[in-house]
Amino acid sequence: MAKLTIGDVDVQGRKVLVRVDFNVPLDEQCNITDDTRIRAALPTIRYILDNGGKAILMSHLGRPKGKVVESLRMNPVAKRLSELLGLTVKKMDDCIGSEVNNAISTMSNGDVVLLENLRFHAEETAGDEDFAKELASSADIYIDDAFGTAHRAHASMVGVTHYIAESAAGYLLEKEIRYLSGVVEKPKKPFIAILGGAKVSDKIPVIENLLDKVDCLLIGGAMAYTFLKAQNIAVGLSRVEEDKLEICQKLLSDAKEKNTELLLPQDHVIADAFKNDANRMVTDNSETPDGWMGLDIGPNTIVTYAHRIRKACTVLWNGPMGVFEMSNFAGGTEGVARALADSASVSIVGGGDSVSAINKLGLADFVTHVSTGGGASLEYLEGKVLPGVAALTDKN
Ligand code: AMP
Repeated sequence: MAKLTIGDVDVQGRKVLVRVDFNVPLDEQCNITDDTRIRAALPTIRYILDNGGKAILMSHLGRPKGKVVESLRMNPVAKRLSELLGLTVKKMDDCIGSEVNNAISTMSNGDVVLLENLRFHAEETAGDEDFAKELASSADIYIDDAFGTAHRAHASMVGVTHYIAESAAGYLLEKEIRYLSGVVEKPKKPFIAILGGAKVSDKIPVIENLLDKVDCLLIGGAMAYTFLKAQNIAVGLSRVEEDKLEICQKLLSDAKEKNTELLLPQDHVIADAFKNDANRMVTDNSETPDGWMGLDIGPNTIVTYAHRIRKACTVLWNGPMGVFEMSNFAGGTEGVARALADSASVSIVGGGDSVSAINKLGLADFVTHVSTGGGASLEYLEGKVLPGVAALTDKN
């Protein structure tokens, strides 16, 4: 972790370039449908303004792939941020160039400038050093508060630190790493991880890294069916990754060897088609009959998992237990979310879909920490070093 966080930095009268993650979801009219990521950056921005600094904010939005895409301009973000801060945020039409430099040179203390979408320039994702140097050119201090992109070695995350003498983590980045490192390095036991979602292949490195650390792994979602099939349990038409059967067998035997419990669904909600109004039933064991597919964990599994969650002191949750977007297959995800919200454990929720499930149920305030970065938190849990964090650590 960076030695410095923003609270250690004197920002008075200085130009502070902040990499934020304002990659918010937009509807077809470019209205922001969820402003969580903007709100999450407010403590860092407010610190700069309250302490007499000048805040220059930069972010990406969507995937414009190195071209200007009108629907991905930062204008709606500037508008929402102005409302949240109660002041006018000056929005630029580019993130580099003479207009940007002129606007920054005339900033007063307490002003906020928002640069245009970084990914309108292909150099951003390419990690181009000249582009990074230009971004850095008019700032005195660099603050990284974009946890959601911390796993990317992009120019605004890594290169920029080479051209600004002072850099530090913002409050959000610091908080995300504090919670994640807390559960990974010194979790209060029993420590359980609940993993779900579509693809077991996405979660294999996380399982490998967590097997030594957790007391118990609870598996749900489509990824459970590759584990079940690896044990010759019938899975019908359920989603299976055939090329991962062997590694799942190995993970099951590794878990046994390490004395780590790995629980799989003991019953399922199954359907005869992948749609909400398909014929459906609940199995009375872990098998799925021919012609049917498992789309959610069953009621007995919910009871077992909820019991484990209640007994745990630390719980990490990543990935839904079923096809939660369809109301008839959302019960497992909801059951786990409610058990987590009711428990007194330290509970960390990461991963886009489990976060949207917990938000949709209005339970986000009842868990300890909801991560703003799905991909970044997964890579951290795999034991990888996040380039955006390493760039700060190397420097300070
Ligand atoms: P991920 O992006 O890996 O976290 O996966 C999330 C997706 O997994 C969601 O869109 C769910 O609908 C999907 N999912 C969860 N359980 C199942 C299942 N049993 N069969 C098919 N898809 C599933």
